Order: sequence, then structure tokens, then C-alpha cells
Amino acid sequence: MYLNSKREDFFKSFQISCEGATSVTTFVVFLCDKIAPALRQAVYERTAKAITEDMQGKFPDFQGSRANLEVCILRYLAEEENFEYFKDDYIEKQVQSYCLDGNRRLEKFLDFSLDFLYRNILSAVSSSTQIVKDRIDREDKISLWLDEFCRELTEAMNLPRSDLKGIEHQEVTDIEFLRSAMAEPLAALRDNLRKEFADADMSSFPKQPHTILAEHFSGCWAQCPLCGAVCTNTMQEHDGKHQLVFHRPQALVGRRWYGSDDLAIDSCSSLVASNYTIYVGGKWYGLRTYWEAGPPYSTWNILPDSSMQAYWKWFVCRFRTELEALYSGKFQGKGKIPESWQRSNQELLLPLASLLCKSL
Ligand SMILES: [Zn+2]
Ligand SMILES: [Zn+2]
Repeated sequence: MYLNSKREDFFKSFQISCEGATSVTTFVVFLCDKIAPALRQAVYERTAKAITEDMQGKFPDFQGSRANLEVCILRYLAEEENFEYFKDDYIEKQVQSYCLDGNRRLEKFLDFSLDFLYRNILSAVSSSTQIVKDRIDREDKISLWLDEFCRELTEAMNLPRSDLKGIEHQEVTDIEFLRSAMAEPLAALRDNLRKEFADADMSSFPKQPHTILAEHFSGCWAQCPLCGAVCTNTMQEHDGKHQLVFHRPQALVGRRWYGSDDLAIDSCSSLVASNYTIYVGGKWYGLRTYWEAGPPYSTWNILPDSSMQAYWKWFVCRFRTELEALYSGKFQGKGKIPESWQRSNQELLLPLASLLCKSL
């Protein structure tokens, strides 16, 4: 009789501990499956910010105003004399070479963010265990544990408590055991991510670091619909129309004279004083009243001005072949480069600042 009852007890506790273990395993697997994508995303978000802050501290180009940045970009194009850079986004290019050069900074940034977040998760596991294990008054220990866990991680990553409803009623009585059961799968999660980061490129960021960097340059980023130059207003959603002082040869955005291969070397500011017309949406509009073509034309105030920056004269001469190839056009006929522009080549010998000054 005595033996029998003992055996029953034994079986009972064996059953419970087996159920307990299965229950903990189910819980841990479910939870880690939810943590994995949240951790990965948090690492990339954190890294994008870290790269941005690091570059703002180290690159003078990213410390001044946007006008200053534009000068830096033009100077870079002239210094490198490499047409490929004209086609690429300057900020993106700088971020890429900073992150992916021989120093493998991207991997280091990612590992650093991962370590930080991993420590956050471990400490959230510890503190929720600590808080919950003594709450003998509570039946729903697991639900309480999850509340604490998610609350602890709110700042670090996006792990909504509502996503964990599926496991909140798990029968886990041994909360301390839960803590130790989490350790191994979490370490495996970290190691997998580390391996992935060894071959990381810039494609996995939910928001690209260069986009974040660009956003720090306040001001309007609208581009002239005729030449592609950027509005110089320092307010993002400014009143009135977009405006800028130096328009550029329209060939820079590949505009050609209608019905020919001739690239348009004139700037929009000189054309708006001419009798030429523009073909928009199946209709012709006089350039003197370009705004009649509707948005985006109507959102711009292009002041007539016949001057052109020496920089762009030099640029068109220097990269003539490349521009012709890029836009399948020719600097011929109406797009013939004036003799006087060729002389701008020599101005490259002058300090670059003077290239950016207005010259007739
Ligand atoms: Zn323009
Ligand atoms: Zn604007």
C-alpha cells in the first residue's frame, strides 16, 4: 500500500516534470522565433543611426549647411574627374565606401549593435525572472513574465506583447529553469546573426543610412523639372514657389531638342526668356509661360538669367563624351558647345571656389 502510493507520487511528479520541460521548450522556441526577426531589425536600425552619427562627426561635408554640401559634391566631382560619380548619389557613395572599404566597418557596426541588444535581452530575461519568481500570489506567472520582458525591451526593439499571446498560458512553474533554458537558444540566435553579418552589404537596412544622413540637411529637396538643380529654400515645406539661383545646362538631365539628337546645353533660366516651346503631356507650351504646363512646372519660379556657372561649362566640356553616351545624344546643331565654354577648361586650374562663382 505504502509502496503503491509512493509510486503514484513518483509517476505524478515525473509526469509533471516532463510536461514542465515540454512546456518550457515550447515556450522558449516560440519566444525565440519571435525575438529573431525583431532583433535582426533592431540591429539594422541601430546600426544605421550609429553609422550616421559617426559620419557626421568625422566628415566635414556632413557638418555644414546643405549649400555647403552642394559645394562639396561639385568639388568632389571636379577633383575625381570621374563621370561615374555624377550618376551616383554622393551621400550614398560616401556611406558605402565608408562602410564597405577594407576596414569592414559595416560588420563592426553590426556586431557592436548586436552585442548591445543581446545584452539587453539577457538582462530583460534576468530581471523579469527576478520580478516574477517571488510572486507567489500570482497564478499567471508566465503572462506576468512576458509583460515584464516586453516592457524591459520596449526601447531596444519592437517586440509587441500582443504577438506573444500564444504562449502566455503555458504551464511553466519553474521560472528559474526558464531563465537557464533561454540561454542556449539566445546564444545560438546571436551566433547566427554574427555569421550573417560577416557578408552583410547595404541592402538589409529597413532605412538606409544615407537617407537618414540626407534628412539631416534641412531644406527643400525639390528638383527643377527642367535641369534637375535643387531648390535652395532652407525650409522643407516652404510657402511660395521653388526657386534657385544657378540653373544648369539641361543636357545634365538628358534633355534634347525635340525631334533630334541635339542635347540642350542652355540653362532653363535663359530659355524662359526665349521664344522656344516645351512639349509636356502631349501639348506645347511657350517657355516664357512654362508654368502653364502644370505641376511640377507651375510650382517653380524660374527667373530669366542668361549667365551660367563656369563650373557647368567646364563640366559639359570635360564629360562631353560621357554625357553623349549616357543620354544617346550629341552636342551638335542647337546643342553645339560654344567656343567660349572650351576656355572654361583652363579655369580648372583656378581654385575651385571660383568655378562655382557666377560668371557670364
Ligand atoms: Zn532649372
Ligand atoms: Zn523648394
